[in-house]
Amino acid sequence: MTVVALDDTDSRDGMCTTYLAALVADELADDHAVERRLLVRLNPAVAAKTRGNAACAIHTDAPVDEVRRVASDLVDRHAATGEKTSPGLVVAPGDPDAVPREVTRFTRVAVRDHLALADAVAVADAADYAHEGWAGGHGRIGALAAVGAWAAFDEWTYERLVYRPRERWGTARDVDESSVFVAAADAYPAAWDTVDRAADEAVCVPATLGPVLFGIRGDGTATVERVAERVAHEPHERAATFHTNQGTDAHLRIAALAAVEGGRSYRVGATVATDPETRTGGHVHLTLQDGDATLPAVAFEPTKRFRDRVRALRAGDTITACGEVGLGTLKLEKFAVRNLVRTELVVPTCSDCGRSMSSAGADAGYRCRDCGTERDDKVERPVERDLEQGWYEVPPRARRHVAKPLVRGGFDGPTHPER
Ligand code: ATP
Repeated sequence: MTVVALDDTDSRDGMCTTYLAALVADELADDHAVERRLLVRLNPAVAAKTRGNAACAIHTDAPVDEVRRVASDLVDRHAATGEKTSPGLVVAPGDPDAVPREVTRFTRVAVRDHLALADAVAVADAADYAHEGWAGGHGRIGALAAVGAWAAFDEWTYERLVYRPRERWGTARDVDESSVFVAAADAYPAAWDTVDRAADEAVCVPATLGPVLFGIRGDGTATVERVAERVAHEPHERAATFHTNQGTDAHLRIAALAAVEGGRSYRVGATVATDPETRTGGHVHLTLQDGDATLPAVAFEPTKRFRDRVRALRAGDTITACGEVGLGTLKLEKFAVRNLVRTELVVPTCSDCGRSMSSAGADAGYRCRDCGTERDDKVERPVERDLEQGWYEVPPRARRHVAKPLVRGGFDGPTHPER
């Protein structure tokens, strides 16, 4: 077996690493077996990313030299050129299950933390992998991480990607939305994040300038391929099914609130310290607390109806919050309600006349001005809550590629999936 991986071949105005990987796989498939194509999402907080921080790997029985020649030639011909594009290629001999421990470790770090090009070069050299870089070759970080992915992860999902011929890139996509909605409804929940029903949006059709016509995500190859076949669309150039770590929450670290650092994503337990507040731009802000540690959190405007769930939180609720930390703020992707405040303390009412009592002075309790009745303290009143125990999430249109949709299951509590 040979594993070939590439990254950082794309730019915002065209190309896409998955498309280049599909070209490499299709060319190799002319003469050899191509066992798998992987689409690996790495740390979404990496500043160098173009969009979703994806890298790709191909598992084939073609010999190393030929794989390197084919892939290098296709990167030469097709990779985008531009300030931010820095392609990298890594070719590893042997079984993808049997990569050295340092390589799988590198993959796990690449999904949750930050690495330098020198780290990638050192690990690739130590493993005796061939590697090649263009315009600095920064993409070798993602490429090496993609080489280790098969051994590093044990949870896989699938995406069927359908690509446009080059002459159509940048033009309006002709995909029949009603066929997307019908196929999505029939395949749900085995296929997920195909559409956003509440927003009436086909989220599987990107708005980018590149080669992707649409992509169907789900829990099995047959499912995503069947859904893709049922979508009516303009003529396509090629299609490929990838094994992916999308929808797995591979990016989340479990940590105490006091330990979080920027540029990483977390799952943290916390108490809501301040009532949520909607500020300029429609973003909803609150503060999380655990002991002495506090951390601002935000649900951004594009998360739309998720913000209503966040606004329904109150100071004193306990939650588990998930999201990326950047500039000292946790950007909420999902949260679980663990305990809701069910009562609040209010000024007592007079038992005789039913009117609200007045303060009788500092530490002097409350008194009814009319009847003279007295109470020492505020009284508890039940509060209506518009939230239940369990997990709430952003809608499909706002989901990060790597974030796990609730409908996929495996959560430690009831779930309230968005679809
Ligand atoms: P697209 O989603 O369109 O495929 P992209 O978002 O994957 O684009 P790239 O152009 O591939 O973006 O840029 C990501 C860059 O970051 C690559 O050079 C990759 O090697 C590097 N990279 C990936 N993960 C890490 C990490 N954990 N630490 C440092 N660099 C990383």
